[in-house]
Amino acid sequence: MTFETLKFAEEEVAALKTDNRFIQPRVLQSAQEPVSVIDGKKVINLTSNNYLALANNPGVKKAAIAAIEKYGAGTAAVRTIIGTMSIHKELEEKFAAFKHSEAAILFQSGFTSNVAVCQSLMSSESDLLISDELNHASIIDGARLAKAPRKIYRHKDIKHLTEILEAPEARKARRKMVVTDGVFSMDGDIANLDEIVAVSHKHGAFVMVDDAHASGVIGKEGRGTVSHFGLDGNVEIQIGTLSKAFAAVGGYAATTQSLRDYMGSVARPFLFSSSQPPSVAATCLAVLDILLTEPQHLKRLWDNTAFFKEELKKAGFDTGASQTPITPIMVGDTAKASAFSKQLFEEGVFALCLGFPTVPKGKERLRTIVTAGHTIKDLEFAVGKFTKVGRELGII
Ligand SMILES: *Cc1c(COP(=O)(O)O)cnc(C)c1O
Repeated sequence: MTFETLKFAEEEVAALKTDNRFIQPRVLQSAQEPVSVIDGKKVINLTSNNYLALANNPGVKKAAIAAIEKYGAGTAAVRTIIGTMSIHKELEEKFAAFKHSEAAILFQSGFTSNVAVCQSLMSSESDLLISDELNHASIIDGARLAKAPRKIYRHKDIKHLTEILEAPEARKARRKMVVTDGVFSMDGDIANLDEIVAVSHKHGAFVMVDDAHASGVIGKEGRGTVSHFGLDGNVEIQIGTLSKAFAAVGGYAATTQSLRDYMGSVARPFLFSSSQPPSVAATCLAVLDILLTEPQHLKRLWDNTAFFKEELKKAGFDTGASQTPITPIMVGDTAKASAFSKQLFEEGVFALCLGFPTVPKGKERLRTIVTAGHTIKDLEFAVGKFTKVGRELGII
């Protein structure tokens, strides 16, 4: 089918291909598992965010099916009309308690949670949104939808953040919000949240931490970055996703009751996009229950992380600044990183290639995420292949 009016799409695709930015995702033909069938091949899967390996857990699936039986397949309404089911309320209450917050408000994804908070709280030109340069795209887009001007500070640079907070623009702002990822998704490093909170509060700013890669991963029982730093009760807004360790899809903001009530009346993704199917809510509740009662999953995630990082280092790889199960393997060249990923796949290991412009030039890499479900044998097999192909390509 061709439309003269859509000719531009062909040119755009050609330009993306020239730029190495055309995306053709591999296709998963099994459940999301530590060893998955991808593009017709059984491979060690080091690319998902299925941290606790619960996406295909029998108990979790049973809970989702039971919710379908009880509440049906979908809600067919937005939360504020008649899309709030008792299971959504239960999810909000349990996730508020999980984050040691007064209340929580549920959104359809982590992406929409960030958009909702940035847009609804930074609603005036006299507000100021202050953001780490490596924050997630959904924070950037949320900031674009906000009326407030934005200031970007260098990655985890407290001195730069302080300068911004001390400048006249911040001093005369009506509201100031400092936003940071809890765990940064490309490097796997953890925000210096203790310092961020101290300097923000000193200057009358409130803090929002996006714990997409931290919830279910770091802190006591996987409660996130606030728990990791012992900052319970000191951080105004915690964003969590239900799409990574929680193995379903969704997001929430855990905060005070009054801020929750405010967003429940004004946040546009809450008002104008329908609520999650009840099976999704049930999945998240089941995962939360497992997290709180079966500590072995989190322990295995971290044991696997330590083992995998250690073995990669022993083999001579540069694993960057990672402090979490996200382990980059630095390559430093787009073509080489791409060849590395392709050859590993042929050898039975799937590790994602991140090239320019997703990461800066010279910082091209593979990104791996181990899960609680990988066996030591899986990881040894993977490191063996990394070493073989890494040598062939002159990376180590
Ligand atoms: C993945 C991610 C999101 C988006 O979460 P979804 O639930 O997948 O929409 C937001 N913020 C960060 C830091 C992320 O890594």
